[in-house]
Amino acid sequence: MLSTSLVSSLQFPFDTKNLFKFNNIQEGDIYRHYTTVPEDELPINLYQYQDFVIRVDYSDNKELKKFLLETKTAKDQNQTNVTFNKWAKNNHGNYIDLQISEENLIKLIEKFPTINYNIIIEDLAQKIYETYPKNHHESLKLASTDSKYKFKATEEIIAESKVNVLSELFFKEYRPLETIEAWLDILKQTYPDLISFEDIGHTYEHRTYRVVHFSVPNSDIEHHERKTIVVTGGVHAREWVSVSSVLYTIYSLILHYNENPSSKILSNLDFLFIPVSNPDGYEYSWKTDRLWRKNRQETIFPNCFGIDIDHSFDFHWTKSSDWACGEEYSGELPFEAFESQIWEEYLNQTNNDHKIWGYIDLHSYSQEVLYPYAYSCSEQPRDEENLIELAYGIAKSIRLQSGKTYNVLPACIDKDVDLLPDLGSGSGLDFMYHNRAYWAYQLKLRDSGSHGFLLPGKYIEPVGKEIFAGIKYFCLFILNDE
Ligand SMILES: [Zn+2]
Repeated sequence: MLSTSLVSSLQFPFDTKNLFKFNNIQEGDIYRHYTTVPEDELPINLYQYQDFVIRVDYSDNKELKKFLLETKTAKDQNQTNVTFNKWAKNNHGNYIDLQISEENLIKLIEKFPTINYNIIIEDLAQKIYETYPKNHHESLKLASTDSKYKFKATEEIIAESKVNVLSELFFKEYRPLETIEAWLDILKQTYPDLISFEDIGHTYEHRTYRVVHFSVPNSDIEHHERKTIVVTGGVHAREWVSVSSVLYTIYSLILHYNENPSSKILSNLDFLFIPVSNPDGYEYSWKTDRLWRKNRQETIFPNCFGIDIDHSFDFHWTKSSDWACGEEYSGELPFEAFESQIWEEYLNQTNNDHKIWGYIDLHSYSQEVLYPYAYSCSEQPRDEENLIELAYGIAKSIRLQSGKTYNVLPACIDKDVDLLPDLGSGSGLDFMYHNRAYWAYQLKLRDSGSHGFLLPGKYIEPVGKEIFAGIKYFCLFILNDE
C-alpha cells in the first residue's frame, strides 16, 4: 500500500515537504535505464527513438552544407535517400545537429566520405526518459484512479497552498499541462489583484488558449497608457524549457512584487504571458511523441498533422517548401494554424487597448538572442542600432546572471533564408515587430547542444533566472526609452 504521506503529497503536486520526496529527484537519485522499466510504466513509448543525434561540422565543405540545409525533414522521402531531422544549427561554429538513424548515418558517410561529425546523443530514448518527472508514472496512476488526486485547484488545495504557492519545488521538474493550469489557478486565487486570465479561444483539440495578464494596480497611470510586454513560450511543443521559463518569469515578478511592490517596472508596465502557446502540441509531446514540434490540426494530407505555428503568421507569408508531414509545414494559407489565428483576432479585437511595446518569444535551443527580420536579411529593421544594442544588453544581463553566453544575430541568418527563403516567412517575431511591438526578439534558450531539446529538469531554475534577468533588462530599457 502506498503510504499516506505519499498520497497526501499528491493533492498538491508542487508543494509540501512530502512532495519533495515524492515528486522530485533527490540528490544522488538517478533514473533507471528505460529498458529496465516495465513498458507500461514508461511515460511514452521510448522504443520509437532509436536514432543518434550527431553534430556535423560543415565549415569547409560547401556541398555538404548545401545538402544538409536544403534537405527537408526526415519523412520527406522523395527529396533524397538520406533522411534525418534537423535539430539546430550553430551560426558561428558552422555546424548542424541532426537526429539520424544508424542506417542513414552510414548512407550520409557514403555520400560524403570526408564528413566531420561527432555523436552528441548516443542514447536518445534514455535522454528523453530523463526529461519526464521521475515519478511521472505514479502520479498519473494516482490521478487516474482517484479523482480526488487530480491536479486540480480545488478550494481546499487553494486554501492550503496560500503560504506555499511560491515554492521553488514547482520548478524542480517539467510539468504537464494539467499541473501548469492548476498552478496558475492557485497563483491567480492567491494574487487576484495582480493576475487575471484571458481565455481567448480554443485550439483544434478544443483546449483553452490562455493569456495570463499580470498587472500591478497603479492609480497614477491609466491602464491603457501603460506599455505592455508580451512573453510567449511553447510555440514549438518539444521546447519545454521555454514553457517553464515563462512560468518562472511570472513567479519571479511576484517575488519582485513581494519585495518591492512599488518597483518601477511593476507600476509602469503591464504584462501578457502565454506560457503554453501550443497546448495541443505540448500535450502530445508529453503523451505520445516527446520530439513533436508543430500543433496538431488536420492538414490537406489525411495522415499528416500539424502546422508550424511560427510559419503561420501573415507577414511576408509564403507557403513552405516543406510538405504537410514535415516539421516546417506552414499550412496552405496564412493564419491557418488555430493558434496564430486566435492571437491575431485577440490583438485586433479584444485587445486593442493594450499598448503592446515589447515582445519576447522563447524557444530552444542554441543560446541566441535573435532580432528581426526573420524573413529577409536585406530588409533593414527600424531603429536598427538600438534594436541591436538592446539585444546585446539582454545577452549581457544573462551572462552576468549565470555566466552563459547567448549570441546576438538577426533571425534571418538563424533561419538560413539565403538558402531557403521560405523558412523565415510568417514568423511570430516579424509579425509582432511589424504590427504591434516596437521591440521584439526571439530568444533561443539553453543549451548549446549536449542535451538539445532534452535539457534536464535541473536546469529549469538556472535558465529561468537568467531569462528573468534578461527580461528585467528589457523592461528597464523600454521604460527609460521615453
Ligand atoms: Zn522553437
